[in-house]
Amino acid sequence: MRSRGSCFMLIASIVILSVIHDGRCQDFGYDGEKGPSHWGEQYNSCTGKHQSPININSLDVKKVNLPPLIFDGFDVPPQQTNLTNNGHTVAVTMKSDHIPTISGGPLNGTYQYSQLHFHWGDNDTFGSEDMIDNHIFPMELHVVFFKQDYRNAKTALEHSDGLTVLAFFYEVSERANPRYEEFVTLLGNITSAHKSTTFTNPPSLKDLIAHDTLHYYTYDGSLTTPPCSEVVTWIDFKEPILLSHSQIEAFRALDDEEGHPLTHNFRPIQPLGDRVVLYNTDEIVKDVDLGQPEEPPSEVEQNAIDEPKKERTSGRKNGKDSGAMASMGVSWLVLATAAMAMVFSSYGRD
Ligand SMILES: [Zn+2]
Repeated sequence: MRSRGSCFMLIASIVILSVIHDGRCQDFGYDGEKGPSHWGEQYNSCTGKHQSPININSLDVKKVNLPPLIFDGFDVPPQQTNLTNNGHTVAVTMKSDHIPTISGGPLNGTYQYSQLHFHWGDNDTFGSEDMIDNHIFPMELHVVFFKQDYRNAKTALEHSDGLTVLAFFYEVSERANPRYEEFVTLLGNITSAHKSTTFTNPPSLKDLIAHDTLHYYTYDGSLTTPPCSEVVTWIDFKEPILLSHSQIEAFRALDDEEGHPLTHNFRPIQPLGDRVVLYNTDEIVKDVDLGQPEEPPSEVEQNAIDEPKKERTSGRKNGKDSGAMASMGVSWLVLATAAMAMVFSSYGRD
């Protein structure tokens, strides 16, 4: 993985961090006059219709077989990894000759690692942002990527497909997670806001996330902090990461800019509105929704609709067929036969 000709050094810079989650540039909080219910006064997008986080109702998702997610560079330990208390969260930036990227799944194009950070609460009964079936987890990890076409996280905010965030939930375990040991120890060096520290043994991204990356929910949403830009393809993995109570407790020992305990840094859930949450599974999805979509499906839905068809009919995985078939909400035998003919003829074209 490291042998790709000349390596170039790329720093996931503090400039990028200033766009997302930097207290010095953004005046917001989680309580009182700076709290989430007031964000919309300064940031219009925070009152938008496709905001995050949301509650995901697992009985109301659309099961799909998306193409595999492609994780590149996730197993490469960076040369240097920094941990920063920015007053709102703990953010991890890295210096590496192989910056991780992600593509595939619901994504169109390649997304490059920007930073990762966490959301947590005062105790183990809450702290996550998204919820699954009204279940709140004690902590949530957000691994933020920007679309490479847009060059950096800041300019990516100007595009509706600018960012993707891989979200992982945490659950409390009896045993400490050895892969988080140095991480948790280092939190003790950055209890004050705007302090940074460096890993002795930088973990790879793979060390910090869950094993099962096949089962996930995905939907279109927003940043969960101002400016709340609606530019995020959320990918919420089903399998939680396990940490002991005291490992999670270490995050609660941090202070914010005013020297108060940094807890409760999660935004309340937002309305789902007209959005459809997809659930990626390895079960073969048989029903391709013979309902009557009034509007053309979104890009994410369209991929979801197209892919299972290709799997079943031709085994192809990466084609870009139009949605002609999917939008025919017809169950009559005669029309179904005609529709099948259309599918086969469309394969001949690309
Ligand atoms: Zn976040």
